[in-house]
Amino acid sequence: MITPKIISTRAKGVFHGLLGMCLVAFASLVQAENIAVHAGWLFDSEGGRLLEKRTVHVVDGKVESVERGFTQRDGERVIDLSGFSVLPGLMDMHTHLAYEYGPRTYTETFTWNPADYTLRAVNTAERTLMAGFTTVRDLGDNSNVTVSLRNAINRGEIAGPRVFTAGKSIATTGGHADPTNGYRHSLMGSPGPAEGVVNGVASARQAVRQRYKDGADLIKITATGGVLSVAKSGQNPQFMEDEVEAIVATAKDYGFTVAVHAHGKEGMERAIRAGVDSIEHGTYMDNKTMALMVEHGTWYVPTLMAGDWVTQKAAIDGFFPDMVRSKAAKIGPLIQGTFYRAHRKGVKIAFGTDTGVSRHGDNAKEFSLMVQGGMSPADAIRAATWNAAQLLNAQDELGSVSAGKWADMVAVVGNPLEDISTLEKVRFVMKGGVVYKQPE
Ligand SMILES: [Zn+2]
Repeated sequence: MITPKIISTRAKGVFHGLLGMCLVAFASLVQAENIAVHAGWLFDSEGGRLLEKRTVHVVDGKVESVERGFTQRDGERVIDLSGFSVLPGLMDMHTHLAYEYGPRTYTETFTWNPADYTLRAVNTAERTLMAGFTTVRDLGDNSNVTVSLRNAINRGEIAGPRVFTAGKSIATTGGHADPTNGYRHSLMGSPGPAEGVVNGVASARQAVRQRYKDGADLIKITATGGVLSVAKSGQNPQFMEDEVEAIVATAKDYGFTVAVHAHGKEGMERAIRAGVDSIEHGTYMDNKTMALMVEHGTWYVPTLMAGDWVTQKAAIDGFFPDMVRSKAAKIGPLIQGTFYRAHRKGVKIAFGTDTGVSRHGDNAKEFSLMVQGGMSPADAIRAATWNAAQLLNAQDELGSVSAGKWADMVAVVGNPLEDISTLEKVRFVMKGGVVYKQPE
């Protein structure tokens, strides 16, 4: 069980200076208040259906009850969403709030200080929340900037989603998340467990314990090569069996779940057998890998947007370094087919985009790719709500609009089960009973 660093954000004066665009939303919310949300339709994320005319009573940032019809109690303020479809706050299980990929990314590593990444993350976190994503996992930063980001959001100082962060992801030497890949020798040095580079069981354990000390919420490892690192293989196994077993066993001691970046089959299967919680991307999984995931209850987080994005950018001369470009052109187009097969085989799927590769705030475009990949709109939304909460071990607090959980809700015009792209235009956002966006 991860310790969810969840608090109810209270709108404070400081927001007004920081977030000019949200002035209207915050102005009426200086006090905690009891609210009745009148939902024209409410998405039941457990059952995967829309319920007509429901009232959600919100007390102290949490859902107190959900009733049929439109009701109002003494002292309650009504938020009229009777013309809208209301859904649980959306949850993206794979983001990188400190990054936003572009041609300059490879020089940023030489010119940016932690403060630069932090200030970017303040901006990307706000965009993420305004797009309707009230919870995210951050699966890799540097200098623990997303730990500080999460804490500032939880203190109510800045607007952003609930962040569950892995801090710096863990790799082996030269592996996908070795932060010095592609550098000239005099700059490479020998990054170690504190920087997220391990070799052997002892340093694997040390890296997990370092993340506990750093204040991370979960562990991320890069079990195989990846597309965007300046290294030859996009899919070779990069952790030995005993190393990934040491990661998982140590993570369990600290209540961490383990998320695993993997494209290649061998590295992925070692991780699944070791008992990790989720496989990210999963490009080259085959029927045997999928059966193993079903057997172990391993989640699949597909990140179709990342596959789509690298495929498009690989067509542009000079966008990627040559070594990255050939991997992007080869691996990018395959992920949606993998998703189609994994879904049909009954692998558990949680929504994740790898945003930070693509643009923050565009996260909801993943839904259309999932539906194009053969998933029903209801199941795609469940992947971003009900399933995501289970992957976080936060199903008692998140993932549905039901009594006792945080009042995290979004609203869209129209029926998202008929047109999934409505989720790209979220009109109302509430997190912990605080309204961050409302219809004009
Ligand atoms: Zn990623």
